Amino acid sequence: MNIKALAPRSDFPLLAGDPALRYLDSAATTQKPQSVLDAIGGYYKRENANPHRGAYALSGAATEAYQGARDSIARFLGASDPDTLIFTRGTTESLNLLAAAWGRANVKKGDRIVVTRLEHHANFVPWQQLAVAVGAEFKICELTSAGEIDLANLNELVTPNTKVVAFGHVSNAIGTVNPVADIVAIAHRAGALALCDGAQGAPHITVGFDSLGVDAYAFSGHKMLGPMGIGGLIAKRDLLEDMPPYQMGGDMIALVGDNATTWNVLPHKFEAGTPNVEGAVGLAAGVAYLEALGMDRVYAHESALVQYATEQFASIEDVVVLGPPPERRGGVVSFTLRDVHPHDLSQLLDAEHIAVRAGHHCAQPLMRSLGVNATTRASFYVYNDSSDVDALVGAVARVRERFAVAL
Ligand code: PMP
Repeated sequence: MNIKALAPRSDFPLLAGDPALRYLDSAATTQKPQSVLDAIGGYYKRENANPHRGAYALSGAATEAYQGARDSIARFLGASDPDTLIFTRGTTESLNLLAAAWGRANVKKGDRIVVTRLEHHANFVPWQQLAVAVGAEFKICELTSAGEIDLANLNELVTPNTKVVAFGHVSNAIGTVNPVADIVAIAHRAGALALCDGAQGAPHITVGFDSLGVDAYAFSGHKMLGPMGIGGLIAKRDLLEDMPPYQMGGDMIALVGDNATTWNVLPHKFEAGTPNVEGAVGLAAGVAYLEALGMDRVYAHESALVQYATEQFASIEDVVVLGPPPERRGGVVSFTLRDVHPHDLSQLLDAEHIAVRAGHHCAQPLMRSLGVNATTRASFYVYNDSSDVDALVGAVARVRERFAVAL
């Protein structure tokens, strides 16, 4: 099998500088193309000032760079109203914003919050703790034996007192791609909000926010070629307008009286303090790179690698690949090798310059239900090719040989 990379390694300085590296941990964070590094450097060389605050031309240039980035990222995500894209530090902060600002104002004792067994801790703990704090019910939708959301169970759990259904677009731990439209329909039928953790969706799948149906969508820039420390929350305008602010300070106010304050318009109401302009500009460059590749091709490329890796692993005894069949998974192959601990396995792979993730993938409730403490996870992106899969599978086979007696 010869699956060529979609993007040349030479575009990515870190990969170009380390030809032996097999980077298979893009679900954790992606490598950055030169164009992203250039955009960040260019911003500091030509436009840096505090946006929104100065009347001078340079501050205007910084403001334009920041708003321009918002416009292009909103367009990429299919949101026609860019002011409903709130920049945050990333998915974690976006979900905490929702749970803290919207949740505290709207979820009361006796209400119900529903999440799924697939969730990353970032889309689990804020809701669990909100429920604990206000005395709401906290319910977890279970999975089918294939590792997919059990829609019948979801239907039962989403009762008329349910205020929110929080679910991921794609599982970071086992790769399940969730049926967003079905989940939204169940949530909305009960009058609940449908909130989507898109950390593993936006980098890999066309999001199309306006037609997706969810009330809010959270994402992280560093998982989609952008820098760390920038991401966002896109939400329906009414939801953001009706919600109290999350953090207070500069930029998010309209008028500050001695005893009362009014809030600025969107998006500023949710962006207190000096924003991360370099992050926004860097992420806009990352998004431009993905747009040039085409998101349909990105998804097809990852699917081909996942399919190939799954087939190759099937020939190694004792390797168990978790999650749904490859055609219903994102760019993730999560597996176990009998009694070899994933941490040991990942260290042995590291000795062959193969970087994979090992652990619970911030999804302990999921690991418990799968009956494992941890898995080893390879995740693919635009710069990977089938030789990365061959290297991985060959190295895992060698580890198995080495431990064959113990196994
Ligand atoms: N949700 C999912 C599904 C994720 O994969 C991640 C990152 N591992 C997060 C949330 C949290 O993202 P961040 O650390 O960028 O805030």
